[in-house]
Amino acid sequence: MRSLGKFGNFGGIFVPETLMPALEELEAAFLKLKNDKKFNAELDELLKKYAGRPTPLTFCKNLSKKLGCKIYLKREDLLHTGAHKINNALGQALLARHIGKKRLIAETGAGQHGVAVATAGAKLGFQSDIYMGTKDIERQKLNVLRMKLLGANVIPVESGSKTLKDAINEALRDWTANVKSTHYLLGSVLGPHPYPTMIKFFQSIIGKEAKKQVLEAEGKLPDCIVACVGGGSNAIGIFNEFIEDKKVRLVGVEAGGSGIKSGNHASRFSDKKLGRVGIIHGTKTYVLQDHYGQIHNTSSVAAGLDYCAVGPEHSLLRQLKRVEYTYATDKEAVEAFKLLSKEEGIIPALESAHAVAYVMKKAITIKKDDVIIINLSGRGDKDLDQIEGIIK
Ligand SMILES: *Cc1c(COP(=O)(O)O)cnc(C)c1O
Repeated sequence: MRSLGKFGNFGGIFVPETLMPALEELEAAFLKLKNDKKFNAELDELLKKYAGRPTPLTFCKNLSKKLGCKIYLKREDLLHTGAHKINNALGQALLARHIGKKRLIAETGAGQHGVAVATAGAKLGFQSDIYMGTKDIERQKLNVLRMKLLGANVIPVESGSKTLKDAINEALRDWTANVKSTHYLLGSVLGPHPYPTMIKFFQSIIGKEAKKQVLEAEGKLPDCIVACVGGGSNAIGIFNEFIEDKKVRLVGVEAGGSGIKSGNHASRFSDKKLGRVGIIHGTKTYVLQDHYGQIHNTSSVAAGLDYCAVGPEHSLLRQLKRVEYTYATDKEAVEAFKLLSKEEGIIPALESAHAVAYVMKKAITIKKDDVIIINLSGRGDKDLDQIEGIIK
């Protein structure tokens, strides 16, 4: 029987009937191609020769000394386009080509996912149409320019709050009307089945490499792995290979914004009042919402973590207590951003800095020889303008 992509009580498919044929076609293609030798060889080649895999596992000598444990970074920041998002964009674009699609559509908030899709689209010969809220277009001029240079159309979205969730609605509308020619390239482990499972498949390469690399470097598994959680794709990507290794602590760090009590954050799990189970954009998971079920506005210094819902598998992993979820505030993330830059000569993305901030905060409770891997999901070049405004 066809799996409907449930993660315990979470996940599933909550879409209008008109989208079911597209999702069924996509699921069938994914189930076939994920075990297909030729498809995997092609993807492997793209990841190696184009995106820059495998990424190194870097030991941080200075930071380790300072914090009193052994800290390694999984360097997704070194990938082409600067973050883990390219793993998923290339995977889905290749899959779309195998099933004969001619056009990619996507939504983007800060523009990072849009750039990854436009890149994969250019490389693999697609027309790419990227939906983006007009408010975001105004805020993210450089990424809009990048997408245009890469040959993509950026389609402004004027509805609602003119940001990411409105762009998703428009992209879904477009897909409903154009399913025959078009693949909707979703950016994180969100949305209806098969997206969360498929995107996990494309991002699991992170954990597979990390496991091999840490065994080589330390002769044992790590004591703890930390990753930031927006939709949750870089986190699932590194966690997945270690889920069965029960002794490895897994920690997901959400955006604490200006603090949980302020209500200005994107901590779906840490805010007991606003973070509740709901259905959004085709899936059932934890969502920030008011008591009428209206989506609560989110806020984070890191645009990539600034989303009202979390991937459904994370909701299950939390319920099973296999992954611990916590948060870092904007202020803590900026401190971590500065510390990693200064100590190791690596400027992290503000998203990834949330994971670094957790390790900084917990340093006193960590044992001296504990081996910790932080998933450095991206590089911080994109964040310099924003940081300039904060640190003066
Ligand atoms: C988009 C982004 C994230 C958040 O997405 P996930 O799906 O939670 O991984 C994290 N880090 C960087 C650098 C990003 O660009």
